[in-house]
Amino acid sequence: MKTSIATVSVPGSFPEKLAAIAKAGFDGIEIFEQDFLASDLSPRAVGKMVREAGLEITLFQPFRDFEGLPEPERSRAFARAARKFELMNELGTDLMLICSSVHPKALGGVDRASADLAELGDLAARRGIRIGFEALAWGRHVFDHRDAWEIVRRADHPNIGLILDSFHTLARKIDPDTIRSIPGDRIFFVQLADAPAIDMDLLYWSRHFRNMPGEGDLDVAGFTRAVMAAGYRGPLSLEIFNDQFRGGIPNTVAADGYRSLKTLIDDVRRTEPSLGGALLPARGEIKGVEFIEFATGEADRAPLEALINAAGFHLAGKHRSKRVNWWRQGAVNLLVNTETEGLAFSSWLNHGTAVSEIALRVDDPARVASRAGSLGAQQHKAARGPSELDIPGFRGVGGSVLRLIDDASGVADLWEVDFTAAERDKPAEGNEIGLQSVDHIAQTMAYDEMLSWTLFYRAIFRANRAPMVDVADPDGLVRSQAIDAGGLRITLNGADAPRTVASRFIEDTFGSSVQHIAFSVSDIFTAAEKLSARNFPLLEIGDNYYADLEARFGLAPELAAKMRALNILYDEDAEGRFYQLYSKALPGGLFFEIVQRAERYDGYGAPNAPFRIAAQKRAMGPRSVPRR
Ligand code: MG
Ligand code: MG
Repeated sequence: MKTSIATVSVPGSFPEKLAAIAKAGFDGIEIFEQDFLASDLSPRAVGKMVREAGLEITLFQPFRDFEGLPEPERSRAFARAARKFELMNELGTDLMLICSSVHPKALGGVDRASADLAELGDLAARRGIRIGFEALAWGRHVFDHRDAWEIVRRADHPNIGLILDSFHTLARKIDPDTIRSIPGDRIFFVQLADAPAIDMDLLYWSRHFRNMPGEGDLDVAGFTRAVMAAGYRGPLSLEIFNDQFRGGIPNTVAADGYRSLKTLIDDVRRTEPSLGGALLPARGEIKGVEFIEFATGEADRAPLEALINAAGFHLAGKHRSKRVNWWRQGAVNLLVNTETEGLAFSSWLNHGTAVSEIALRVDDPARVASRAGSLGAQQHKAARGPSELDIPGFRGVGGSVLRLIDDASGVADLWEVDFTAAERDKPAEGNEIGLQSVDHIAQTMAYDEMLSWTLFYRAIFRANRAPMVDVADPDGLVRSQAIDAGGLRITLNGADAPRTVASRFIEDTFGSSVQHIAFSVSDIFTAAEKLSARNFPLLEIGDNYYADLEARFGLAPELAAKMRALNILYDEDAEGRFYQLYSKALPGGLFFEIVQRAERYDGYGAPNAPFRIAAQKRAMGPRSVPRR
């Protein structure tokens, strides 16, 4: 199955688009006419450039407002088409897309449209060109692929076929299974796009909010399954109009497109076994977090380790050959790396104190690494000492590394062999506060990176995405996307407004990274009391919050008073209850959260985020001089 993408989907000049598309791995491109017109290259030069990049031109598009016109517009439309056929011959492509007319003078009628197409088919045949007819969701008379198919069927011409576009079908909520009965060889081309579920004007939605399959809410997989079941075997091509991508980086957008398309094709092949089975190794199943490593410098280490220590962790060991301290509590392992070379060191130089590695327990590290590699994730080999394990890894958010391990990787050895045993498994009596595991990891990034990283996690791992939520910072909006990958929950927070806490964090850490780590406890009240005794720098929440909380949830006054005394925030929904508290942030902005989930509460306390952020802003004070 050939992969293709429309030039309009990728930002940049024509040569930049082409280079990015070829580098990403696509087989072909659709030439969006405007992209061609905007370049100053001749059609022959463009065709040559495309072929030299190792790509083929799968489609020339769009030709608008053709069918159903009265004279003299009709003759003009035919003359215009003839000119484009010449251009296509020079470019070296044989397939043209005609989208259903929005011309105010266009007349309806299936027979009129099919007669026009049949006549154009004769003209096209003489030029060796085929025509695909596409129903735009907002077409004047034709806005449903079933009507477009009926027009193509009645045109009954070998050079006239159907073009399907997942957006136009799914945006109009047309059942994609209606495609199954269309003969596959009459479908000339298939375009794919997803979009977030927003209720808005179809044209505006399509031109500005399309996104890569898997990034939105449309059933693009169901659509693609229907197309394949119909017997279509031509290219699958991404046609994405998206304001954010237009302002993005060509290589990133093209690579995301390829990742999304390959993931989709793999998903479809897995569910339609007649297509020959899976294309990629299966998605990884995350069982849990084995360790989180912080990269820091000798001078910045003290405040970080003070926070870790105050949270009840004990120093469980030191690395035998590297400057790495191992802190442990419950099933949580934190590493503090102050090496002066390697990944951790460059991470510290680039980001300040930050999470440089996250090791995940997965079902089969080699398989998951292979899938990630096939989807373009950048592999990362650790520089290893003699006793260290060969653990596969690849780059994640902000250049940090995700390591993949399982019991067979010899994780036990990792701790036994690589670390001194001096203080291992000897937490000082009563020091632990009951942390059990990592509840979630919050990564903060620019808003326009969010779709990309959501796709990254969901393409590589089995993971569900919750609806995106807006969080009000006093100085702007932050958007939060939760991803539940079984043994790892991740929240991606995206900020545009420059004065939000999230943006300040991005600025202070020079890019995207982990902003907070949330640990789970089974009794947050006991934990909070122990934390106070350990001088844990609790984030103080205002009295107004608690007065409102008591009223909002009808809490017993004693309970509300206890929460207020311990700075515990609270949320509940139909599924259960949620308690959370925060540390103050370290100088670089990193902080800890401690949570207790009761019953089946599945969220992250989003309604509390504005209060947490306001409290953090009070604790940070006004911004004066840059920190670094
Ligand atoms: Mg289209
Ligand atoms: Mg959180």
